[in-house]
Amino acid sequence: MTATDIGSSNEPNGQAQQINGTNRTFAQLQIIDENQHFTKDLPKCMKDEWELADCGFNYNLVAVFGSQSTGKSTLLNRLFGTNFDVMSETARRQTTKGIWMSRGKGMNVLIMDVEGTDGRERGEDQDFERKSALFSMATSNVIIVNLWEHQVGLYQGANMGLLKTVFEVNLQLFQAARGKEKEKTLLLFVIRDHVGSTPLANLSNTLTADLERIWEGVSKPEGLEHCMINDYFDFMFTTLPHKLLLPKEFEQDVIKLRERFVNPNNKDFVFKPNYNKRVPADGLHVYAEGIWDQIMSNKDLDLPTQQELLAQYRCDEIASVAFENFLGKIKGYRQPIEAGKIIDDLGPQMEEIRNATINQFDKDASRYHSEVYKRKRQEVLQKANSQLHVFFLGQLKNLTKKAINTFNSRVKEQLKGEYDFAIVVDSARDEVEGLFVSGAEAILLSGTDWTFEEELTQLKDSINDLAAKSRTEETKKMIKALEKSFQLQINEFVSLYFKTPNQDMWGKIIKKFQQVLTNVEQQLLKRLKSFNASEEENVEAVSSLRKRSWLQLRKKIDEELADNMFLLKLRERFEEKFRYDDEGLPKVWKPDDDIDAHFRKAKEEAIGLISLFASIQVPDDVELDIPSDEELDFESSLTILTETRQHDLSVRFKRESDAFYLEAKRSVVATTAR
Ligand code: GDP
Ligand code: MG
Repeated sequence: MTATDIGSSNEPNGQAQQINGTNRTFAQLQIIDENQHFTKDLPKCMKDEWELADCGFNYNLVAVFGSQSTGKSTLLNRLFGTNFDVMSETARRQTTKGIWMSRGKGMNVLIMDVEGTDGRERGEDQDFERKSALFSMATSNVIIVNLWEHQVGLYQGANMGLLKTVFEVNLQLFQAARGKEKEKTLLLFVIRDHVGSTPLANLSNTLTADLERIWEGVSKPEGLEHCMINDYFDFMFTTLPHKLLLPKEFEQDVIKLRERFVNPNNKDFVFKPNYNKRVPADGLHVYAEGIWDQIMSNKDLDLPTQQELLAQYRCDEIASVAFENFLGKIKGYRQPIEAGKIIDDLGPQMEEIRNATINQFDKDASRYHSEVYKRKRQEVLQKANSQLHVFFLGQLKNLTKKAINTFNSRVKEQLKGEYDFAIVVDSARDEVEGLFVSGAEAILLSGTDWTFEEELTQLKDSINDLAAKSRTEETKKMIKALEKSFQLQINEFVSLYFKTPNQDMWGKIIKKFQQVLTNVEQQLLKRLKSFNASEEENVEAVSSLRKRSWLQLRKKIDEELADNMFLLKLRERFEEKFRYDDEGLPKVWKPDDDIDAHFRKAKEEAIGLISLFASIQVPDDVELDIPSDEELDFESSLTILTETRQHDLSVRFKRESDAFYLEAKRSVVATTAR
C-alpha cells in the first residue's frame, strides 16, 4: 500500500491503522508551547510532514494522561514508533513543557504527548495539567491513562482528583451542547510496574469504583443531571511489567498492547467507530485550536491560588462560628412571632443582631484574600438576611391581622347613633393602614430589597371587602328601618280615611301616600350619599323603595277590605241611615212611616260604597311614578274589587239588609197590636 492509497481512502477507522508504505519515524510538533499558545504550524505539518491532510475521517487521535515521569513518553515511543522526548535516566534533564504531537509509524494515528514539570505543589503545574487533560479528552478518541501500580487506589497520588474537574468541564463545555448524539472516548488504563501479586481484575475494580465515585461528585449541567459515566466513556485496563527489572517481559507486553492499536481483528481493538470525533483531517487544526481557545477562556478551570484556598478555608470557619452565634441570638423570636405577637423594636433588634454577626466575621476574616473575603461576607450577610426575612414576613402577617381587627372594632364602635358611614369607614381605614405601614417600615432591614407592597395591597383588599360587607348590611338595616316607619304611617292614615268613606277618600290617601313617600325617599338618598353609593345604586334603591311602598299600601287596603270587614262597613253605613234618625237617635218605626222608602235609600247608600272602594282613584293633579315589573303591574293594581267580588258582596249584603227590613216591619206590627 502506498501513501496515496491512504490519502484517497475516506472510510473512518478500520483501515486507518494499516501499515503505511512510508514506514518511517515522523517528526514531532509542539502544538501548545510553554506559554500556552497554540501552534500555527499544524496544517503545514499535517500536510508535509505527517501526510495526513487528505485522509478525511480516516485517522485517529490518541493522547496520554498521567503524572510526570511515569514513563509515558517511553511507552508512546514503543507503541507508536514516535520520537517523543524521554527523560534521560542519568541526567534527569527536564523535557520542554507543552503538548506535543506526532504521527505513529506506519499508521494513520496522531499521538499527543503532554509534558509538564515535576513537583505538583506549584499551582501553575496543575493548571496546565487540567487544561491539557481537558484538551486531550475533547479531541482524542483514545486516552491512555498511565499510572504506577502503587498509585492505584490513591486518589491524589494517581492524580484522579484532576479527573473530576476535567469531567465536569468536559460535560459542561463540550457534551451538554451535543444533545443525543453522544460520542464516546475510550480511557485505556495502563498500570505500570505491575508486580503481579494483585491481579488485574482487582486493580481495575478499584479504579472503576474510584471513577464512579468521582463521577458522582461531578456537578452536571441542566438536562444531564442523571447521566452516567458510561454514557461518555468506555474503559479498558491493562498492566505492564517493570521496564528496567523485567525488560524482556516489558517488550513482549508492549508488542501485545500495540496489537490493540493496529489490528482491527484484535478483540481489544481500540479504535471503535463511535470514538471517532468526526473531524476531517484538514480541519483538525481549526477544531483543536477552537477547543484550546474555549479551554483558555473558561473560568472553571482557573485554579485558585494558595492564598485563595487558605482564605476560603478560614473564611468558611469564621463564618460558621459567627453564624452559630447569630442563630443563638435569633432563637427566641420565632415562637412569639408564630404565636401572632407583634414585637416592638423588631427592626432595630434585627439590625443589631445582624450587624454584630457581620462585625464578628469582619474582625477575623478581613485579613484574608480580599476577593474571597468579600464573597464570603456577602454569603454570611445573605444567609443572615434570609433568616431574618422569615421574621419580617411573620410580623407583617401579624400586623395585617391586627389592622383588620382594629378596623372591625372601630367600625363597630362608631356605627351607633348618628354617624356618617363613609366617614366612619374612611377614618378607620386611614388609621389602620397608617399603623400597618409604619409598623412595616420599622422592620425593613438596611441593605436588603425587602418590600411589603404585596401585603399592603392584600390588606387594602381585605378592608375594602369588609367595608363593602358592612355597607351592604347598613343599607339593608336602613331600608328596613325606613320601611317600618313608612308602614306605620300608611297603616294609620288608611285606617283613618277608610273609617269615613266618601268621594274625597282616595284623593286624600294618595296625596298622603305621596307625601310620606317623598319624605322617606329623601331620607334614603341622604343615607345613600353617606355610603358613597353610585348614581345607579341610588336610582335602583329609590325605584325599589317606591315599588315596595306601593305594595305595602295595597296590602293595607286589602286587609281593610277583607270580605267580613267590608260587609261590616256596608252594614254600618246602612244602619246609620236606616236605624238612626238625622239626630243620630235610634228610630222607632210608626205605622205611617214609609219603611219601604227608607229602606231603599239606606240600601242604595250602602251599596254605593262597593263602587267607591272598587278601585283606587288617583286624582288628576297627582303624578305617581310607581315602576311596573313582573312583581307589580301598577295599572291593574289600582283595581281592588273585581266585578265578581262586587257582585258577591252586594248579594251577601242584600241578604243581611233584608233581615233588617223584616225586623223593622215586625216592630211596627207589634206596636200597633198592643
Ligand atoms: P514521562 O515524563 O511520563 O513521559 O516519563 P518518561 O518516559 O520521560 O520516563 C521517565 C523515566 O522513567 C525515564 O528515566 C525512563 O527510563 C523511566 N521509565 C520508563 N518506563 C519505565 C517503566 O516502565 N518503569 C520504570 N520504573 N521506569 C520507567
Ligand atoms: Mg514525557
